[in-house]
Parts: sequence; C-alpha cells; structure tokens
Amino acid sequence: MLIIKIVLVAWLLLLIGDFLSTFLYHVPEHVFGKFHGIVHHGKNRSFIHYAVLTKNPLVLLDGFLGALPYFIFLPLGWQISPAGTILSIILGELHVIWRHVSAINWQTPKAISWLCQLLFITTPEIHWLHHKNANVAYGDIFTFYDRPAQKWKQFLTHIKVSYW
Ligand SMILES: [Zn+2]
Ligand SMILES: [Zn+2]
Repeated sequence: MLIIKIVLVAWLLLLIGDFLSTFLYHVPEHVFGKFHGIVHHGKNRSFIHYAVLTKNPLVLLDGFLGALPYFIFLPLGWQISPAGTILSIILGELHVIWRHVSAINWQTPKAISWLCQLLFITTPEIHWLHHKNANVAYGDIFTFYDRPAQKWKQFLTHIKVSYW
C-alpha cells in the first residue's frame, strides 16, 4: 500500500509538472519568447553541457522557468507522501539528463523503448525530434502531451499572427 502511494504521488507530481511546464511555459515560449529557442534549440547543441554544466544565465533562466511548474505542487505532495515527493524530484532530474543523452550517441535499448512506449514516457530519441523540429514531440516526460501541445501551439501562433 505504501509503495503504491509513493509511486502514485511521484507519478502525479510529474504528470502535473509536465502538463504545466508544457502548456504554460514551453509552448508559449516557442510562440512568443526567445530564451528557450536560443537555449534549447540553438545551433550549438551541446546538451549535456546545457542540461548539467553550463553557467550561462539565460540557460539557467530557461531551465528554472521550465522546472518551476514541477515545484509548485511539491508542498502538497509532501503532505501526502514525502517519499513520493522526493522520488518525483529524483526521477524528474534523472529524466532531464537521460532525455539529453542523444548528444553522446545514445541508443535506448529495445526493451526500455518498448516499456516507455507502453507508459507514454518520452525517450531521448523522441525528445531529440523536438530539438530538431520545434513543431513536434512535445511533452518533456509524457508523450501524450504532444498532440494537445501541437494544437495549443497552432492556436497561440494564430493569436500571435492575428493580434501581436
Ligand atoms: Zn531538451
Ligand atoms: Zn522546445
């Protein structure tokens, strides 16, 4: 029972975090902003460097704003399950690093790819598609956010073109 609670809370926190991050930051930033475009989709695609090592303030700002939605509900999660909350932070952080390993020619093992597909989890290969083309492969962690995010992007682009 305890394990289920821990996993459920961790999963929910990531689900909510990815949702808010994708729809309130990532997509609008692609349409209206420029930080994320420069940092995440720039020509200089050194992602390991980008994700973990860099001290460029723009990169840190993009990372911070993108990560903020994951933190909002942590206090609530903590009240339900501190262990689940910690697990979500660890998994979220590991996933950031993992989905950027394309830079070192990583290939996800077949079994893991299959498992991720089953659980709708974004693999480095899928996330790489987003880096190459900002119109596809949304959902930093969960692949099912891709379709609604693309619709959301079309809608916001329409708003921008019409009223900006
Ligand atoms: Zn990325
Ligand atoms: Zn992006």
